[in-house]
Amino acid sequence: MPQNIVLVVGNASTSADLADLTAFAFDVADRLQVPARVATSMDYDVKDYTGVVLSPTWLDWTPSVVLGVEAQKEDMFVGDTEILYSFEPTKRCGHCGEDDDEAAPVLVGDTWTVSVCPGCVTTAAGLALPGALAVAA
Ligand SMILES: [Zn+2]
Repeated sequence: MPQNIVLVVGNASTSADLADLTAFAFDVADRLQVPARVATSMDYDVKDYTGVVLSPTWLDWTPSVVLGVEAQKEDMFVGDTEILYSFEPTKRCGHCGEDDDEAAPVLVGDTWTVSVCPGCVTTAAGLALPGALAVAA
């Protein structure tokens, strides 16, 4: 079964490129309201993911081209920036369901969580369960 996570594919060849890609993945998690993992190599099986979003730089780096082409060959959701920015940023916590203007994704390792409100972030931190937020949907 695919995880309910979107894989974000783009140029991650330098730390600056990776920072840009990570920032783009924030928008993916925020707008699609689904956890977004940043692909930092080609060692991912796109079939493990519920979908793939291609960043504007995905054609600039061989590993991201490989993943992007693999995703397009599969019968799966493949989004691009045009689709992504047709969604509004989420103003609703994906954890408790409350409306909160400050709700935003949280970076856990290489994966942005869905948008969560500050209260839920504090609660999750108190539980000390790494990844607890990442599976919130
Ligand atoms: Zn919340």
